[in-house]
Amino acid sequence: MSLRYKLKKAQTLLTALTPEERADLTRICENIQRSQEDLLANAGPAMQQCLRNCEGLCCRNARVDDIIGLWDLVYILALTPALADDMAARVEHESPFYSANCMFLKEDTGPCIFAATVRPEVCVTTFCSGDRAIQKEIRRVKREFFKIGCFFFWRRPRALFKRLSRPARRGAPSTAAPSGQSRRGQRLGADRPFRGEKHG
Ligand code: SF4
Ligand code: SF4
Repeated sequence: MSLRYKLKKAQTLLTALTPEERADLTRICENIQRSQEDLLANAGPAMQQCLRNCEGLCCRNARVDDIIGLWDLVYILALTPALADDMAARVEHESPFYSANCMFLKEDTGPCIFAATVRPEVCVTTFCSGDRAIQKEIRRVKREFFKIGCFFFWRRPRALFKRLSRPARRGAPSTAAPSGQSRRGQRLGADRPFRGEKHG
């Protein structure tokens, strides 16, 4: 799957959501963002290695398609939709079968165009060294990302269940007065048989 294809797919998935589903997904994405904030706040030595000594070597000469998945793109687009056009223009230059500098580097040198806490899972959870102290935070980011996949996996069954349960609700006894029957009559239980009336 090329990045170009994944980006289009991510946009299609987001467009198809109902407002209610969109709100649910936003909640999941905000939790991912919080977990990324936590990770960054605690990633001192490991992050210093990336920023000072290496300056983001893993963003260069890489198979970017292997690093960035569909759920990463859904996450980024859900929280920063203003980047959609820029991202689409950048993936047009993708050569999926070759290693290259990540097309999301500003001017091909960096930094990354994505906000520090709205980045693909692999980009924030992979360190060459010094990450022993932040294993808990790394696991949390991964766990939160996993929920995006679950959300879309269960989306159709959830929608189907809602559709199927709708007629059942329509068939439930109504509290409204039947036509021709006064509200007072309803309060008195006029729709129930009178005492002494024959049943059956
Ligand atoms: S994870 Fe490793 S290769 Fe990537 S930026 Fe950090 S130190 Fe460099
Ligand atoms: S998305 Fe950003 S952090 Fe990840 S590889 Fe590309 S430039 Fe680097």
